Amino acid sequence: MHPKIKSQELFAQALNYIPGGVNSPVRAFRAVGGQPFFVDRARGASVWDVDGNRYLDYVGTWGPAILGHANPKIIKAVRDAAKLGTSFGIPNPREVDMARTLRAWVPSVEKVRLCNSGTEATMSAIRLARGFTGRDKILKFDGCYHGHADSLLVKAGSGALTFGNPDSAGVPAAFTQHTIVVPYNDPEAVRAAFAANPGAIAGIIVEPVPGNAGLYLPRPGYLEFLRQITSAEGALLIFDEVMTGFRLAKGGAQERFGIRPDLSCFGKVIGGGLPVGAFGGRGEIMDYLAPLGPVYQAGTLSGNPVAMAAGLAALAELEASHAYARLEELGAALEAGMKEASATAGVPVQFIRCGSMFCGYFTSEPVHNLADAMKSDRERFKKYFHGMLDRGVYLAPSQFEAGFISTAHSAADIEKTVRAAARVFRTL
Ligand SMILES: *Cc1c(COP(=O)(O)O)cnc(C)c1O
Repeated sequence: MHPKIKSQELFAQALNYIPGGVNSPVRAFRAVGGQPFFVDRARGASVWDVDGNRYLDYVGTWGPAILGHANPKIIKAVRDAAKLGTSFGIPNPREVDMARTLRAWVPSVEKVRLCNSGTEATMSAIRLARGFTGRDKILKFDGCYHGHADSLLVKAGSGALTFGNPDSAGVPAAFTQHTIVVPYNDPEAVRAAFAANPGAIAGIIVEPVPGNAGLYLPRPGYLEFLRQITSAEGALLIFDEVMTGFRLAKGGAQERFGIRPDLSCFGKVIGGGLPVGAFGGRGEIMDYLAPLGPVYQAGTLSGNPVAMAAGLAALAELEASHAYARLEELGAALEAGMKEASATAGVPVQFIRCGSMFCGYFTSEPVHNLADAMKSDRERFKKYFHGMLDRGVYLAPSQFEAGFISTAHSAADIEKTVRAAARVFRTL
């Protein structure tokens, strides 16, 4: 590794002009100590910092880079689209292509509205659920993150956990009084919430596979239970698939687990690395949106032609390259290698994986929810993170983030990662 002199200089400058030097808090490395590196460029599974160091990247711009960085087909699509104009604010054909593609890939999405981020998607889906049902309350889960909209920023996972404020300042209690929070994977808690709020819960919003407090999986039957109880109670089931959509399968977690939610939220992969979000679902619900219905939602840049082009190119390439089978293989290899390496070193690690998403918790107890995740030894994680970084492997700089494999990772990259981890585990 070259000394990170330019990165340090840039960070020092950034601190003068940008709060904490970063435009999204987890990037600041606060949870692991040290300073972030600054990126010069990225290609495939690698990023290069401004000091010339190369890292094998498992953050993948926090999910979107499922085809690796600077995928040539996406770059070409962006260039071609940009030549025709970067924003119109007038309907353009690519929006229709995108909507049609989403509907084909995700059968529960009969109609879809495009927006600019995952936060916009969840915020709008919640408003729509409230408008459609005429109810105010929303049920969410401890440790699930649904973006930074006021009413959802309660016990919200990664960033919030990393900085020790489970609830943000600046959110009036009145704004979250209709947000009910219960532990994930605990059917009884959901039943109790419905019993305590009869006829008042508009919907449940859930990350079907929670990836913002590390990664843990729904217990068998749990998502089916959420489907049943929402239907029985006249509430909507909202899957926040901003992270899992187009990543765990063509049709996201809902395809993988065979559940049909009423509404779904997307982001990340759907934009091919450009800012895109979307929410969609049952036609009769979606038709409650303006201009047809009474629920207002809008966006100057929504359906942006360049972003649509990037997203469409990404989805086309995922399909053409049989990406999901390959990601599953790579994920299985990483899981097997990491489990063996930690066992050999005698370091207790719960390595949890779903397709190309993964997380290793430093605890000997199984992890099914946020309370379990919090048992992870974060001092160990810090050493592990820096040990891997020093060996050229970039993991998310927090215990409470999922890792992502891309189709640009090779079997050799996975082996290299496991070898690095085996060495680092011995030092913990
Ligand atoms: C990242 C994420 C969001 C927020 O998306 P942004 O594009 O960062 O606003 C919402 N929900 C989930 C599950 C996410 O992982």
